[in-house]
Amino acid sequence: MMTGSLLDRLPQEILRLLRLIGSYADQRRVSCYLIGGVVRDLLLGRDNLDIDIVVESDAVEFCKPLAQRYQTALTVYPRFKTATLTWDHRFVVDFSSTRKEAYPTPGALPVVVEGTLKDDIFRRDFTINAMAISLNQDNYGTLVDMCRGQDDIRSRTIRVFHAKSFEDDPTRILRAIRFQERYQFQIAEETREPLRQAVEGKFWQYVSAGRYFEEFKKILKEPNVLCCLDRLQDVGGLSFFSKEIVWTPAKKDHFKRVQTILLWMQEQGIDRTALAVWLVYLMILISDQPIEKVQDIVNRLSLSRHDSRKIISCKLEQEIVKRLDMNCVKPSQVYNVLKSMSAEEILFFLVKTHGQPPEMCIQNFLTQYRNVHLCTRGEDLMRLGICDGKRIGATLQILLERKIDAGAMTKEQELSLLQEMDFI
Ligand code: ATP
Repeated sequence: MMTGSLLDRLPQEILRLLRLIGSYADQRRVSCYLIGGVVRDLLLGRDNLDIDIVVESDAVEFCKPLAQRYQTALTVYPRFKTATLTWDHRFVVDFSSTRKEAYPTPGALPVVVEGTLKDDIFRRDFTINAMAISLNQDNYGTLVDMCRGQDDIRSRTIRVFHAKSFEDDPTRILRAIRFQERYQFQIAEETREPLRQAVEGKFWQYVSAGRYFEEFKKILKEPNVLCCLDRLQDVGGLSFFSKEIVWTPAKKDHFKRVQTILLWMQEQGIDRTALAVWLVYLMILISDQPIEKVQDIVNRLSLSRHDSRKIISCKLEQEIVKRLDMNCVKPSQVYNVLKSMSAEEILFFLVKTHGQPPEMCIQNFLTQYRNVHLCTRGEDLMRLGICDGKRIGATLQILLERKIDAGAMTKEQELSLLQEMDFI
């Protein structure tokens, strides 16, 4: 089936790159294909710019001269024999060699050997993710569908290749649920039973917790994370954290609250670009556990120290509430409690204090207090005779607190306040 028009759904800049890669592959007499999720999403008419390419040769050797010729940034992953090219700092294209995989034991990392396109297709998770489109000139745009993936897309079905698929790689349990909910597909009958068995057999224990969690994190990043967790809970799949972690109606409400707050933040013009919402969801999921358990989960998930620290702070909830719940808490006190917290911690506490006095304090911090800046600088104080660095820092800090409590101040008002306070 010719699918030139299928590729044409991609943006022009990407198409230009694919043409260029295809003709370079022709020169090297190498077969080269677009593959996986992007093909699935082209068939579904959904945007996806995660460009994965397989070549029937050594992907790293294929990419090196290509990168040189087009002056693109090249990153090589020798362990996985894959490479990434980044064009114009914008377009990222991942290359791998077609390969065959064998799983020596359930959940183990596969033994990888060179293979054909067919091998590469049949090593994949689901039929809908196992189609390719040729990029070579002779058959440019031809859809390669060796596993009736198109039929499964049409009938909205998620299907594994064989009954031991989830045993080989239990992360596919999470992937099946993620795609089911994202596309509103159904899981094929002959796939349902192996999935159920994989969950019941707790196959995730054969995979490193970090690797399993990487896939779970993708669920936490899905727009319909709530439905994914409902589904996962239905099949008993949430207990991989620990059997005590359950998806309760209260947690579900907290997830919904996160989404309401994100909209509110957008309305308020609060920058959310660096906010890792998945971390907040994880905090909500595990914050009802004792601190030792939270610590243990965090350790097992191989999270970065930075992320671990944020997650563990979910146990500070009571203390934060206490500090923000005092009668007549001053804006500067709120500021001092929250100023060094990450955006994720603040969002978490905002969720947890919904309907209580600290909620308003945190909202005010986000919309007002943290945007207060002094007009007075260190140099101004030096000109006024304060030369000790520590003293300058402490003075500016106190001045800032006064300004936060006062609402607004001009530079003249700041300086006269300093004089009133006997700082100068
Ligand atoms: P998304 O839209 O969420 O990025 P994707 O299918 O592109 O979905 P990736 O995790 O980027 O997801 O994987 C790219 C491709 O690699 C998949 O389409 C699938 O063919 C293959 N793949 C990924 N994970 C597995 C797995 N655990 N087992 C087998 N094949 C996999």
